[in-house]
This record gives sequence, C-alpha cells and structure tokens, in this order.
Amino acid sequence: MAATRAIDIRTDIPGPRSREILDRKTRVVADPLSVYLPIVVAEARGALLTDVDGNTFVDFSGGVGCLNVGHSHPRVVEAAQEQIARFTHTDFTIVPYESYVGLAERLCRLVPIAGEVRAAFFNSGAEAVENAVKFARAYTGRSAVICFDGGFHGRTLLALSLTSKTHPYKAGLGPFAPEVYRVSFADPYRGPDAAAALAELRRAFRTRVASEEVAAVVFEPVQGESGFIVPPREFVAGLREICDEHRIVLVADEVQTGFCRTGRFFAMEHFGVEPDLITVAKSIAAGIPLSGVLGRAAIMNAPGDNAVGGTYVGNPVAIAAGHAVLDVIEEEGLTDRAHAIGETIRSRMESWRGRLESIGDVRGLGAMLAIELVRDRATKAPDAALATAVVEAAAARGLLLLKAGLHGNCIRVLVPLVITEEELDEALGVWEEALELSTR
Ligand code: PMP
Repeated sequence: MAATRAIDIRTDIPGPRSREILDRKTRVVADPLSVYLPIVVAEARGALLTDVDGNTFVDFSGGVGCLNVGHSHPRVVEAAQEQIARFTHTDFTIVPYESYVGLAERLCRLVPIAGEVRAAFFNSGAEAVENAVKFARAYTGRSAVICFDGGFHGRTLLALSLTSKTHPYKAGLGPFAPEVYRVSFADPYRGPDAAAALAELRRAFRTRVASEEVAAVVFEPVQGESGFIVPPREFVAGLREICDEHRIVLVADEVQTGFCRTGRFFAMEHFGVEPDLITVAKSIAAGIPLSGVLGRAAIMNAPGDNAVGGTYVGNPVAIAAGHAVLDVIEEEGLTDRAHAIGETIRSRMESWRGRLESIGDVRGLGAMLAIELVRDRATKAPDAALATAVVEAAAARGLLLLKAGLHGNCIRVLVPLVITEEELDEALGVWEEALELSTR
C-alpha cells in the first residue's frame, strides 16, 4: 500500500531548493567540504530524513555512524534541551559537574576490560585517538606507534599519520608525525591471512622499529572506512599476545564499531580479547560532539596533571546526550536489535550475491555490514563506478547509502538501530532495485 510507505519522493533528486542552497554553498564554503549526496536536510527523526524539498528518505548513512539511537530521539532532545537551559559550559577541570562523573561511571561499568578502569572525555574521534597515544606514551615512556594498512583514525596530525588512505586524506598534506609504523591488517577477503599479518608485525620489530620503542598498537576491531573488514579472531588474539610479550599498550579504536553497532556494546566483545584502551566517539552522544578514552587505570592515570584536556572536552550538553543515549540503548534493547537487523540485512545481501556476479563479498558483524562490488569475482578487481551508480540510483528512490573501502567500491550499512521492520524492508527493496538497475 503506497500510503503506508515511509519513503516519499516528490521531486527530482536533488530538488530545486537543495539545488539552490548548494549553489550558494559553492560561493562561500571552501571546496574541500565537497558534498557526498546533493540533498539538503530539513529535519530527521529515527531512521527517516526529510529534505528541504519535502522528500523523505530512509537514512542508512546514519551520520556516518553517529546515530545508532536514530535522529533526534526524544530522550536525547529532552536531555540536551534541559541541560542547555541550565548551563552550557564551565570546563570540567575548572568547575566540574556531576553528569561527567556519572557518564564515566556508566561507561567504566560497560568497558570489557577487567580490573580498575578510568575514562576521559574529548570532542572528536581523532582527539580520542591522539589522547589514547598520549596515555600510552606517558605510561610506557616510549614513543613509537604501530598502525595498519587500511586503518582510519581521523584527520588531525597524529591521527592522520595513523590513517592509511592516501587519497583523499593524506596526499599533499604532510609532513606527518614521526614514529608511526604501518603493517598489514589481516583481511579474510583480499589477504593476508592472520598468520602472515602477525608474522609481518613480528618482523617489523627487526626491520622497522625496536619493540622496546613501541608505546602502542592502534587498530580497529572492524576496519570501518576501508570497508568493514572483520579480522579473524586469531589476528586480534595475536595482537594481544605480541603486546603482552613486549609490554605494548593495545588500543582498540571503537569510534565506529562501539555503542551496539556490531550486536555487542563494544566490538571487542566478539573477539574474546581485552584491549588496554578503547576509543569511543560518534554514536556516544547521537552526533553531538563527544568522544572518550576508556581503559586500564594505570595507563589512564600516567600523564601528569593537566597533560590531557581541552576547553570543550566533555561538554555538559554532549554529556547529557550521552546519558540519554545509554538510557535508550538499555530501554530499547539496541544490542539485540542490532543483531536482529543485521541478520535481516545479511540474508538479503547473501541473496543478492547469489544472483549478482558483481557482489564479490558480503561481510560484517551485527548491523555493521557491507557489500564489496567487483568487476570480476576471480580477479576481485574493484568496481567503484558501480558502487557510485548504486548509491545514486538508491538516493533517487529514497534510500541514503554510504560507500567505503580503499577503492571506494564497498557500500556499508550504518542504519539507525531504531529503524522499524517496515522501514527496513522498504529500504532493502530500494537497495535491491538500485543494484539490479545499475548492474544491467
Ligand atoms: N576512528 C575511526 C575508527 C573512525 O571511523 C573515525 C571517523 N570515521 C575516526 C577515528 C575519526 O573520528 P572524527 O571524525 O570524529 O575525528
């Protein structure tokens, strides 16, 4: 029944009003802030987004993973409004507030690390990663950091140095931070396997940097930007073993994987391994800037007084939203919901792979799922043009999809976990239609 559809497309995409605003944008906004899809938002709620032309889309991009509890969840709106009316800012280290302590208490209870743990809040994912390295350096008295091919950790100097992809992120923007060493990440689809990747890391201690100079190994338990690559359990266990052997701090960057995306609160819970530090951001406060580092007390307490911080870190409005996000996760059972949504989407993706040669891989954990598009299943030659065509065809039909991958040939799911069954079914129908139209 057309009347019950969530998607409602009334104009060409982009519509005239979006077109006009984007035209103004080119005259005043710096060009590097290029727009992914030419749709200007008017309002959004749950998994639905309405543009300035009155078109309503299902949003699988979820603000690039910030919206696990959905757009403008009433609980988040109420909490942020209540806080903003009471006070907006003091700087926690000048005049502290209870809500900061309360959110630290709640997250320290959830973090999958045994023993004494501590939290510290920041603004962005990149800032959390930068500070995780500070904690590790202060604790170990060492300087080097090991990171991985395909890793993404942000765009500030050290975070960008840890980030892998050259175009568009790094090319022309160096020099980068020193003492950053990159090795292969185990990738079940394109290789290397866990044993080869771990052997390369061990060899790097001979050929690139002495193990006793390494403060931290920083990795994503599921690589996000490079296309939702889920490493084998042995790889993650091997990282833990190597870090134990050489007294290196293991940092799990859960900026994209955290807050129930993978069907567990933290993705690390899938691997049966404890990291030493976890970075969080994105869905922690439903898109209001907030990030954090959580981890072993001895490491978190290592830097001297005021060696970490920042004017806005742990802003009270963001902290209030963070409390509301945790309430919603608990009350609406979003961990289980992520698992269920993931099952539904994965079975549809598998049925597409059964029919369409261009789908080389279907992978992910929970509701963190992606398809990888290839020209040829045997050679696995990436098909970025097809990924773009599918995203555009889906947008024109009312579904916002996000690409990923070192080759830009993956399409990933970061759908709000509060999506209804009906919306999900409708969206998957649109995706299927876009795939079929684009591969014809
Ligand atoms: N780490 C990971 C795993 C990420 O996915 C991202 C953002 N995509 C970042 C760090 C950087 O976060 P931010 O953009 O908030 O700095």
